[in-house]
Amino acid sequence: MSAKILDGKWVREQILTELRPRIAKMTADHRPPGLAVILVGHDPASEIYVRNKIKTCGALGIYSEKITPPETVSTEDLLGIIEGLNQRNEINGILVQSPLPKQVDKRRILVGMRPDKDVDGFHPLNVGSLVAGIPAPRACTPAGIMEMLRRFEISITGKHAVVVGRSDIVGKPMALLLLHQSATVTICHSKTANLAEECRRADILVAAIGRPAFLTRDFIKPGATVIDVGQNRGPDGKGLIGDVDAAAAMEIAGAYTPVPGGVGPLTIAMLMSNTVRAAEQHLCSA
Ligand code: NDP
Repeated sequence: MSAKILDGKWVREQILTELRPRIAKMTADHRPPGLAVILVGHDPASEIYVRNKIKTCGALGIYSEKITPPETVSTEDLLGIIEGLNQRNEINGILVQSPLPKQVDKRRILVGMRPDKDVDGFHPLNVGSLVAGIPAPRACTPAGIMEMLRRFEISITGKHAVVVGRSDIVGKPMALLLLHQSATVTICHSKTANLAEECRRADILVAAIGRPAFLTRDFIKPGATVIDVGQNRGPDGKGLIGDVDAAAAMEIAGAYTPVPGGVGPLTIAMLMSNTVRAAEQHLCSA
């Protein structure tokens, strides 16, 4: 058996293609959606992520702004920048690229942002809305995975989903989104007993751990849908390796998101989608 490849680039192109006419209409009627990205310091990986976000905005006709406070920025100064962006009508979405330096109080930064401009979906109000099933910006990577499952017509209702990882940005929101689609959800983490046994019960297995090829063949139920969120650097510091052993997934799973090219492309697409939706809502309420 060879798993069906779930191609994230194909899903990304579909999402972006659907956004183009919405952006064109807003631009013609009023002004383009606007995204502000705050990049503190010079972390090389963050610089690449931010460059890709800004580039995608440009390709779609979304107005973007990059703000680059120094590594030494204080919480107060960063809150001041965010407050300025909160007030500006042409900015519909604000994103603060992680990681932030140690001296910055991340919780205050999260709460300082207007929830309707929080296109990452991390503000506590938006997290609460996710728990309650109320429409609000959703965390981009899990929301992208849901788009992928929908567009590849992978049924979720009544299926057993196992999410490995309980981070605020991937694991927890992923589990809630699957639960809202009526999966029976198990959340695993570093203290889970019998991890392989739990994973082998999964019809849908989501790996978001950050450990290269950690989930081997013993963790995969034959025919399962395996979603590999992991983006780990290879041993030479180059290339990307997922959290799942790719050869085992290809052999045993029914469907599989490769690394790279699976989940990775979806995150920016959903960021664009969240920005466009925020802009539409701001226009409606103007
Ligand atoms: P975190 O480090 O925040 O969380 C990792 C989670 O995995 C924790 O809940 C941790 O458990 C759990 N974990 C770690 N080791 C084990 C283990 N041995 N057994 C079981 N569980 C374990 O990572 P993120 O959620 O931010 O990211 C996870 C992965 O996804 C990374 O590779 C990251 O690069 C990637 N990623 C990819 C994105 C994309 O494709 N666009 C976006 C975001 C992330 P505990 O809570 O007990 O410590």
